[in-house]
Amino acid sequence: MLLHIGIDDTDSPNGMCTTYLGALLYRELSRIAEPIDLPRLIRLNPNIPYKTRGNGAVTMSFEADEEDISEIKNLVLFYVNQLADFEHENTNPGVAFLEGKVPGELREFSLKALREHVTIEEAEEVARRVGAEVFKFKLGRGIIGALASIGYQLKRFTYELLAYREPENWGKPRRVNPESVFLADKWAYPFSYDNVDPYKRSVLITPHGKDPVLVGIRGIDKGKVLQVFERVEFGEPVAFYQLYKTNQNTDDHLAPKKIGELRLYDSAVVRGRVAREYWERGRHVFLEIEDETGKIRVAAFEPTKKFRNWVRKLLPGDEIIAAGGVKEHEGVLTLNLEKFYPVKLVPKIEYKKPKCPKCGGTMKSKGNYLKCKRCGFKMPKKLVPVEVPRDLERKIYEVPPDARKHLSKPLVLPGGEEKLLELL
Ligand code: ATP
Repeated sequence: MLLHIGIDDTDSPNGMCTTYLGALLYRELSRIAEPIDLPRLIRLNPNIPYKTRGNGAVTMSFEADEEDISEIKNLVLFYVNQLADFEHENTNPGVAFLEGKVPGELREFSLKALREHVTIEEAEEVARRVGAEVFKFKLGRGIIGALASIGYQLKRFTYELLAYREPENWGKPRRVNPESVFLADKWAYPFSYDNVDPYKRSVLITPHGKDPVLVGIRGIDKGKVLQVFERVEFGEPVAFYQLYKTNQNTDDHLAPKKIGELRLYDSAVVRGRVAREYWERGRHVFLEIEDETGKIRVAAFEPTKKFRNWVRKLLPGDEIIAAGGVKEHEGVLTLNLEKFYPVKLVPKIEYKKPKCPKCGGTMKSKGNYLKCKRCGFKMPKKLVPVEVPRDLERKIYEVPPDARKHLSKPLVLPGGEEKLLELL
């Protein structure tokens, strides 16, 4: 009998990680039943407000004997009961079980949870219709992710190796030799990526919270991912590790939409015209884009750092393809940019002083008139329009690695442009 298990929302900023619980369970359950493939780490809509970090849920499938099914389910519920961080008000675990083939309706629900906002009631209704069993702890919001992860069709996937710490080290600084990470990354890039930020010279594989994760190593080639792990030097023991298959860095969350269709928490790609000059507040850069269905504010927030410089170069009338998540900022629906592609750029005109009509010399401004520096010729001040280069190429601009969403596909990966260029 095929048994699918989904788990979500067991962690909080104070500790735990659903992947840790999942990895322990995967080992334990593999003794009782035959695992079908690796466990899967499924990232859902990155814009929903309840997430702790990356809105990740964990799912795994087994071929199990009929008589072992209830033992397996009890073990899963026991682990969640023992390990979830129930203290935190925003931790509302959920578990889902489904026996047999995944129905189409669950696949659809999964896509909705990836790209839009769904409610606990909707999840319960879908579970009832597809015959999945769900278990709610506290509010039980986790059943949304638990169910959606089971229904997720991992057509595109990458890998992440997660190595975990001994419990006595949880909450202490992580001891990983940065030089070894840079060397391993150089060797494996881009088959394993996002290990370091080469511009900031910082290590990206170590999280910063109190959770049990020591490092997470990502890649499209599992052999390379494992070898990066072997090359990294640790200054503390690795309790154990687990390779996950995941939808991270696939751009699966981005759905092509018209601007007028955008709703709060959507993840989408739109094509539109820049409606007005950019403006800044704090260190955030804002634009407004429009198409025939509506207008939306677009933002490149401070953490996107140098990416903002590219946004500042856009002019009213430019046409761009923009990808990102819809959030509310200061009460206004705003598309938080992950990437953009300039489709059409208007000419940039600057008004400059003409050359001296008599000798070709350089003119100097003197109040209302211009005077030639060389021959002294004077004339009324009349500036001439000159077209200047736009400094933007026809390529995709993306936020830096540490500001990137888990689901966003780095351009260095094969097909990194696909989702945006679909709208060309
Ligand atoms: P991780 O730390 O593993 O990266 P996370 O801790 O950020 O993930 P969760 O703890 O999983 O996030 O919390 C996210 C919550 O939001 C879960 O309860 C999940 O069921 C719920 N959820 C997931 N997708 C949606 C959605 N599309 N709409 C509404 N709620 C969702």
